[in-house]
Amino acid sequence: MAGTQSILSDAKENFEKTAALLKDEVDGDLLLKIRLPKERIEMRLTPQLSDRKIHVFPAFVVRHSDALGPAKGGIRMTPEVSLDDVNGLAMEMTWKCALIGVPFGGGKSGIVADPYKLNQHDKETLVRSFARNAYRHIGPQVYVPAPDMGTDEADMGYIKDTISHSMGQATTQGCYVTGKPVILGGIPGRREATGHGVVICICQALKMLGMEIEGATAIVQGFGNVGEVAARALHELGARVMGVSDLFGAVYDPEGLDIPALSGHANRSGSVKGFSDGREMDGQELLEMPCDVLIPAAAGGQITAANASRIAAKVVAEGANSPTTPQADEILADRDVLVIPDILCNAGGVFVSYLEYAQETQQEQMAVARVEGRLRDRMIERFDQVWSLARERKGRMRDAAMILSVKTVCSALTARGYLP
Ligand code: GLU
Repeated sequence: MAGTQSILSDAKENFEKTAALLKDEVDGDLLLKIRLPKERIEMRLTPQLSDRKIHVFPAFVVRHSDALGPAKGGIRMTPEVSLDDVNGLAMEMTWKCALIGVPFGGGKSGIVADPYKLNQHDKETLVRSFARNAYRHIGPQVYVPAPDMGTDEADMGYIKDTISHSMGQATTQGCYVTGKPVILGGIPGRREATGHGVVICICQALKMLGMEIEGATAIVQGFGNVGEVAARALHELGARVMGVSDLFGAVYDPEGLDIPALSGHANRSGSVKGFSDGREMDGQELLEMPCDVLIPAAAGGQITAANASRIAAKVVAEGANSPTTPQADEILADRDVLVIPDILCNAGGVFVSYLEYAQETQQEQMAVARVEGRLRDRMIERFDQVWSLARERKGRMRDAAMILSVKTVCSALTARGYLP
């Protein structure tokens, strides 16, 4: 399982591997600028909740790099999130934004709380408390948050409202947060963007491997914003989604699950567990079932040295951030399992965040068909670039993606000049 340290140590290991691969191409001094984050902020939120008591929640904001533009990245709310995790995730955002070609640097926030244990009112209070306390670290030219694990569209609306009111205004000028409700300046298709981006990558990968999406078998870990949307899209494309898991359990049916019915069940009961069609299974066991495509779309550190040799998928599409440890990555590569790396595979979310940012800055409105078309074009373009470089170097897609990202960030640093 993912330890609190592993996200950061995995991110550092991936970076050092890339730095070694680029030692003849990139000035080592420049790498000093991006090896560590620019800014790591630790805060204490102390809201009074509905029990009339003061509660203390640690919170973090990390800006890893702003070479390409304002730091971008979501707010993670889990009981375990640490400053180091947020640091590792901010670093990954730097590479993701560079790879998908949006003018943003990498950032991330964390709030140490269990969103499932807070009632709706208390969660809103906590999110508003974060917005008030982190206010001076947030802004269209500084850091622009978005949803991540444990936060959603409604929370982004509260953040926009809190900041607007702190300014004594009805609204904000420019984009302070993405992934908001459409009525508050959000963009249609943002919620689905990450899951759709994952599926676009899967279609490209299968095409490259000479396989069809129709009839391909898939297993999805996680049934939230990413997993549920991806499972639904795969089902609509005629793929056979055989297994789905969430925090509470897993269901498996080799004939394929009825995904719309499973979504209905999960919406009503809060979990995929107990779905009448399909048999219950342990979530870890599900990861090892044979399939064409495995989509880890939940927590980090799920495919490790302990289970990588038993992963029986042809393609691993990383919907989550850092689901595969560097050791597991080596094992999968040796076994010819194609891994579509997170910084490419789940970059659809931040790409559509960029469209939201641009729309709000220009006071424009974009229709969903346009959003989906642009997402599709960009995902395919970047997938093909990473695929070609990986072929050329006879290496893994992760190394190719990291090389492209780190070189892009270094080009921006060079263009800015070496002074402070
Ligand atoms: N939290 C998402 C990610 O990890 C989205 C970030 C964003 O849109 O800023 O990519």
